[in-house]
Amino acid sequence: MEFVRHRVFSFAQESSRYCNYSKDKFGNELAFIKPTWYTNEVHPIEAKTAFEEMLQVCETFYLDLVKDYNMQAQEARAILPNATKTELVMTGFDSDWEGFFELRCAGSAHPDARKLANELKLQMYGEC
Ligand SMILES: Cc1cc2nc3c(=O)[nH]c(=O)nc-3n(C[C@H](O)[C@H](O)[C@H](O)COP(=O)(O)OP(=O)(O)OC[C@H]3O[C@@H](n4cnc5c(N)ncnc54)[C@H](O)[C@@H]3O)c2cc1C
Repeated sequence: MEFVRHRVFSFAQESSRYCNYSKDKFGNELAFIKPTWYTNEVHPIEAKTAFEEMLQVCETFYLDLVKDYNMQAQEARAILPNATKTELVMTGFDSDWEGFFELRCAGSAHPDARKLANELKLQMYGEC
């Protein structure tokens, strides 16, 4: 997650070392985040299908490595794709958040980062 580059914040992030996604509490599956391009009309349906298939392959191999080969989560995680869902708690001062929103709500920010930053800003300040 790009947001951890903002070093003035304190972070607590879901650990793919310790989270074994083959366990019941994770539904025995990986969770992926749809990128912003997924819901726009720019890319053909075939691109979305290929994207989904690759994620499916990653999930299958991850579960195989952990369950069939008794690999630890911290070993199998090397094949997790960038789209893998994570949870991140960011703690910072108001001035840190102002700097963060300035960078991540800007037109130059990655669309996925901007979408999340805009939603956060809306929740924190009631405006985007
Ligand atoms: C649009 C965009 C594109 C990006 N592209 C890339 C990329 O291609 N490759 C890449 O590696 N990263 C990229 N980044 C990440 C970027 O390089 C920074 O790591 C990220 O934005 C965090 O910067 P920051 O200043 O908010 O946080 P920090 O680096 O944590 O700094 C926070 C604040 O502390 C102060 N500070 C920090 N260091 C110093 C210092 N030495 N002296 C004085 N004050 C200091 C400044 O006020 C600073 O704003 C990109 C970021 C954005 C927003």
